[in-house]
Amino acid sequence: MIKSTLTALLLTFSIWVQAQPDLDYYFPDDIKFDPAIPTPGEIIGFEVGEKHVSHDQLVKYMYVLAESSDRLQIERYGWTYEHRPLLLLTFSSPENLADIENIRISHLKLSDPELAGEVQITGMPSVLWLGYSVHGNEPSGLNASLLVAYYLAATQSDEITDILNNTIILLDPSINPDGYSRFEQWVNQYKSHISITDPDNIEHNESWPRGRTNHYWFDLNRDWLPLQHPESKARIDQFYRWKPNILTDHHEMGSNSTFFFQPGIPSRSNPNTPMENTQFTTKIAEYHAVALDKIGSLYYSKEVYDDFYYGKGSTYPDINGCIGILFEQASSRGHARQTDNGILKFPFTIRNQYTVSLSTIRAGYDMREDLLKYQTDFYKNAVDMARKDANKAYIFDGGNDHTKTRYFIEVLHRHQIEVYTLAQSVTSENHKYLTGSSYIVPLEQKQYRLINAIFEKTTSFTDSLFYDVSAWTFPLAFDMNYTSLTGKSFNTGLLGEKIDIEKQEPESETLVLTVKGNKDIPINEPSFPGRH
Ligand SMILES: [Zn+2]
Repeated sequence: MIKSTLTALLLTFSIWVQAQPDLDYYFPDDIKFDPAIPTPGEIIGFEVGEKHVSHDQLVKYMYVLAESSDRLQIERYGWTYEHRPLLLLTFSSPENLADIENIRISHLKLSDPELAGEVQITGMPSVLWLGYSVHGNEPSGLNASLLVAYYLAATQSDEITDILNNTIILLDPSINPDGYSRFEQWVNQYKSHISITDPDNIEHNESWPRGRTNHYWFDLNRDWLPLQHPESKARIDQFYRWKPNILTDHHEMGSNSTFFFQPGIPSRSNPNTPMENTQFTTKIAEYHAVALDKIGSLYYSKEVYDDFYYGKGSTYPDINGCIGILFEQASSRGHARQTDNGILKFPFTIRNQYTVSLSTIRAGYDMREDLLKYQTDFYKNAVDMARKDANKAYIFDGGNDHTKTRYFIEVLHRHQIEVYTLAQSVTSENHKYLTGSSYIVPLEQKQYRLINAIFEKTTSFTDSLFYDVSAWTFPLAFDMNYTSLTGKSFNTGLLGEKIDIEKQEPESETLVLTVKGNKDIPINEPSFPGRH
């Protein structure tokens, strides 16, 4: 008797007989959907959360949705190493989408202090970017993107009409398709009809190299600054094409936790990020708290995670007048797993990510004028700060390594940093920077804050405990000769020709370095203007 009771108890705790999730689990009863818009399940063949959607199925659904609804446009903005498409969906009202290019151009003027006065913030839509599962084995975000996309395309309510009239919502459903596909293969092939919730079960323990990283096992959530991989290069172009006001970054963490959203530990924000950024993040967090309370999910904030290294998806936006937000959901690792808090089921993790996606949209809608004004002031203040800064420019050369110098400049250009040839030789700290082989970055430009973040040597910290990367001074990483020039040693006569890197073809990785007035130099030639 005792034995059979024990067995029954053990079975209760060690397996979860999977009830099929249905859309009612994710959406409250009072939401009405347009029946002409297909649900994810109708296209992928199973309900969201029942299995892990494959990347191919995800792509198929997003294209079907774009064909079915006039509330979104879809584009492929790049390819991964394994030739999976990187998608960006643009949601807004049909009227806004018909005029989307003009809306984008007006929006970009806000971040140009010389043009910002031309546009009236009142009535402008905010630009919100939702980005899912940069770590491929943190799948709840990516699977939730199906629900978010369906909700935005198919919901029938005055609220959604109002939101779409006043926001542009960019949705990147899968930032790291190659890593995700490794993970999805693993968990789906070891999924049982009756879920095994034992953490030691093979379903919960994927083999090396696991799905976190991309094809070359590089963590794309450290690549927003170095920009060394095709996923990051393609994405940063889209980021600057739109300059969003809020950008979300959906992750997973240890299974015994609950749900985290930023702000993180206040003393661990990068000092180059304005204080207002944390204030906005805190205000937006109130929306997540209300939404998670409504569905009875536990959460926390401010206790962990720093916001220091700009190579991370939730921090890079902060140095660009945007509010980056990190979400961390406790991971079910597979379809259901025992944890300290009971059995954690995959659909539950998806529902939380879907919920905070919508709370972010509501916050971005309510706060749109404040966010747009903050973005405008961010760039205006950057130029003002540069004028007051004792340092006026950075100069650098790569010695005889022309290729290294070229790629260093390429990274700066991808971050929209202006670089000039050095018009007059400069001697500093016993090194002579020669014209023809040296370059200069004046600080008085829109990316003043980011230039400092990339060039400065930070050797003391308010809070020296780090979750993540604490040193990344770029010229040191590239082993460049470099120095800063103060007002005494700088004059605008040092600025030679402005260097532009232009894409030859949208589909091509080939770039061209152009010195204005000179002939174009393809980037795959080991030469540089003024050299040889
Ligand atoms: Zn992660």
